[in-house]
Amino acid sequence: MIQSTMQHGALTISSLVEYSRRIFPEASIRTWTGEGFRDMSFAEVGDTGAKIANALTKLGVQRGDRVATFMWNNNEHQAIYAGVPSMGAILHTLNLRLSPEQAVFIINHADDKVIFVDASVAPMLSPYLQGTPHVQHVIVCNGPVDAVSAPEGVTVHQFDELIADESTTYEWPDVDETDAAVMCYTSGTTGDPKGVVYSHRSIYLHSMSITTTMGMGLSSTDTMLAIVPMFHVMSWGLPFAAMMAGSTLIMPDRFLQPEPLLAMIDSGRPTLAAAVPTIWQGVSAQLDANPQDISHLREVIVGGAAVPPAMIKKFDGYGVRITHAWGMTETSPLGSVARPPMGVETEEAEFAYRVTQGRFPAQVAARIIGDDGQAQPWDGESVGELEVAGPWITASYYQPEGNVVDESKFDDGWLRTGDVATITPDGFMTIVDRAKDMIKTGGEWISSVELENIIASNPAIVEATVVGVPDKKWDERPFVLAVVRTDEDTDIDAHKKYLEDLVPRWQIPERWSFVTEVPKTSVGKFDKKRVRKHYAEGDYTIIGDPEA
Ligand code: ADP
Repeated sequence: MIQSTMQHGALTISSLVEYSRRIFPEASIRTWTGEGFRDMSFAEVGDTGAKIANALTKLGVQRGDRVATFMWNNNEHQAIYAGVPSMGAILHTLNLRLSPEQAVFIINHADDKVIFVDASVAPMLSPYLQGTPHVQHVIVCNGPVDAVSAPEGVTVHQFDELIADESTTYEWPDVDETDAAVMCYTSGTTGDPKGVVYSHRSIYLHSMSITTTMGMGLSSTDTMLAIVPMFHVMSWGLPFAAMMAGSTLIMPDRFLQPEPLLAMIDSGRPTLAAAVPTIWQGVSAQLDANPQDISHLREVIVGGAAVPPAMIKKFDGYGVRITHAWGMTETSPLGSVARPPMGVETEEAEFAYRVTQGRFPAQVAARIIGDDGQAQPWDGESVGELEVAGPWITASYYQPEGNVVDESKFDDGWLRTGDVATITPDGFMTIVDRAKDMIKTGGEWISSVELENIIASNPAIVEATVVGVPDKKWDERPFVLAVVRTDEDTDIDAHKKYLEDLVPRWQIPERWSFVTEVPKTSVGKFDKKRVRKHYAEGDYTIIGDPEA
């Protein structure tokens, strides 16, 4: 056997930082201030990243130490993304919307030594620090040190002052590409938060996939509005992919409401945007109230939860194409993307592809495992638990005493996603539901996601979620928690009538409740765990309960 003559070329984040700094000095990170943008060029991101690394080294941060962020999407956060992994430390992004108990648990579990915090959320962090004895330094960004009150033993620094006199060069160490670079915890939608640790190599390869046309086609002529938080699966990898592609990123900072988002869109004229469906729901309502041309967006990537088909149509009406994608914290997150194949002739046929969760790139292997433990055929009908494998899919969960391969989450080297799916012969995957959210009624299964999409396609409904609730006769029945457009829209007979032609009769829910907002998780998904709990505790006024 002859040897290849090729070089190895380690796939590291520092190489991306240096590349973007030299090759794309014109591209920038643009953070919204409420009135306009404050810009940081990629040259400045590299400079600031090096200053941060120098400052952290003086504070005693060493390779492998965990450096956390408790921050919005903004210029400083991008520079920390650049500097911390490049110096060989591990960036740990903390979700701003976790409960205090979860936040304290995660900070201790990851053993964070330093925390960067935005002044605007510092009051939230301060009480956590009472329960996190290993944190030594807190660095306040975009505000004064007294924004944080810290216990004895924690030194509080001001970001700009800390890095002011540091050098803009840092001798990045030769890390191994398989070394840990960034860690994130799952948001715990269906259980306790679990730690996932990405390597330089996994991030690099995942960034490449975002720049391909199978992924997001991110390029140096794009401006991407990165709404998806940097504290949730690395803003879907955009901060790193942008360094590779040379694309400008618009960062919303704390301005995540529809009105400022539309102001950013108007002023920054992004070509791409990425966020979960609930964000677009709000943007759409705002657009209907105050029409604005957003057709310069060539594509909006939506994932993290199923995109209701009605939303895709709605955005078609604004002249903006929604592209549906699927992923999870454990998959870095980009898994599949719904781009219709060549040769699809009618709009209707195209639409049928666009509402699926899409096809997997070459690097991600997928299979669906049936109740019998066997891989199911890709016939578009057979259902099974989706399992995936590949270079940016986690192989275990982080534990301080050694990473664990939990049998309930891994199957012979494959990640068990907990999602139930079908796959067509040409590779288009459709998530039927999360296994835990499927509703079993009289022995038949209902997909809660499918049902809620159909319910929400009624123009009288703003948003709706469906969960299974106990029923004496059928074991379990679907319960609808919805927000309606006007007070007149609370007639459940009208809603049931609307469903008559769209779902089998036995699926039509009896129990309905109307509220002003459906509870959401820390990352903006319908919080079905909380809905079930409120239902069980009798917190909702139920209309149509046959057992009442
Ligand atoms: P958590 O598991 O903590 O909610 P993640 O953001 O990692 O956080 O969630 C991943 C899950 O989100 C997937 O397993 C899947 O159930 C759901 N999901 C992501 N994208 C989609 C999508 N396009 N359609 C349906 N469900 C999705």
